[in-house]
Amino acid sequence: MTEHFLDSENSKNTAESLRARTEHLRTGLRTQAGTLRTRTEDLSSRAAKEAGARAKELGAYAKGLGAQTRKWIQENDAPNRRTGALSIAAAVAIGGLVTGTAESAEPDLRIDRQVVVQPAVQSGDGPDGGPVPDTEAAEAAPAAEPAAEPAPEPEPEPEPEPEPVAEPDPGPVPPVDDMVVTSPFGYRDNPMAPGALEFHTGTDFGAVTGTPVKSMLGGTVTEAGWHTTGGGGLRVVVDHGDGLQTTYNHLNSIDVSVGQAVDAGAVVGGIGSTGNSTGPHLHFEVLRHGNYEDPMGWL
Ligand SMILES: [Zn+2]
Repeated sequence: MTEHFLDSENSKNTAESLRARTEHLRTGLRTQAGTLRTRTEDLSSRAAKEAGARAKELGAYAKGLGAQTRKWIQENDAPNRRTGALSIAAAVAIGGLVTGTAESAEPDLRIDRQVVVQPAVQSGDGPDGGPVPDTEAAEAAPAAEPAAEPAPEPEPEPEPEPEPVAEPDPGPVPPVDDMVVTSPFGYRDNPMAPGALEFHTGTDFGAVTGTPVKSMLGGTVTEAGWHTTGGGGLRVVVDHGDGLQTTYNHLNSIDVSVGQAVDAGAVVGGIGSTGNSTGPHLHFEVLRHGNYEDPMGWL
């Protein structure tokens, strides 16, 4: 019986012990379950917080991107405004998306920054970005062009130096420097035939043999040599144009040739007494269209 009692006693103890252990285990499990529940809740809360912070950061980044794009637009030309404005619109839209997602506080939210950046750039490159909001376009428009600096008053043109006045035409040049008239133009007694009137076709100037004889005006030499006309002897004729001619007679020497152009005052020869002459002198004639004129009317 003792054994049975003992056995019974043992069985009782064992049952008690088992009940106690079971209770202990149940309590332990409850505690663990509570801890796990608390931990799970804590983890969920932290995940939501992190996601929210991350979303906020990304929103700020998108905003900065928009500002940078706007600045870039202001520094570039009109053709780029549309593309830039599209980039702004995309950045703003993504910023709004990120913020909205953050408010939903999904614990599993994971957003890679690259995902935000890429669409913003790509939408800017696309040709079919859709209409640009007016406000964005207006903001993108650069400030009015600064007024152009007024052109400096042009320096007044300096008075042009007056053209050097050409030496005034000296006019007819005396055929000899020292005009000593020994016989005037016109009717006179023929020195070779006293008592007979003759028409003296020129003016005689007495001078020393070899005295330079000058062309009265510029022209072209038409005669230069020995002739019988004009008193004969060595003779030079210069054509001045407009039917005007001058002749130089009784020369001792000739310094020009036929066809030569001469200026007024050019030496054509030297005083002489060749031909019908009684002494060294210049028989000087002026003809207008073949008619003799008084040379003194020119000098
Ligand atoms: Zn004469």
